[in-house]
Amino acid sequence: MLIPCPWCGDREDIEFRYGGAAQVAYPTDPESADDAHWARYIFFRPNPKGTMAERWVHTAGCRRWFSLIRDTVTHTITPA
Ligand SMILES: [Zn+2]
Repeated sequence: MLIPCPWCGDREDIEFRYGGAAQVAYPTDPESADDAHWARYIFFRPNPKGTMAERWVHTAGCRRWFSLIRDTVTHTITPA
């Protein structure tokens, strides 16, 4: 699978590390969030069959973080 690094171009996936789901919203009022709310924010992530926003880091290249949209079925990648 080729992953398009915004700075280096298309590279093999072996050069990257997966960083988890992107666009996870931080609690709007962290002082009043209860334990259940924090647990959802920290531990619960989407696991769709289809497109998903993800964070990746180019560990064997420029070492920069970026987001992309990946289809979890076909592995088709589009820039975020
Ligand atoms: Zn790069």
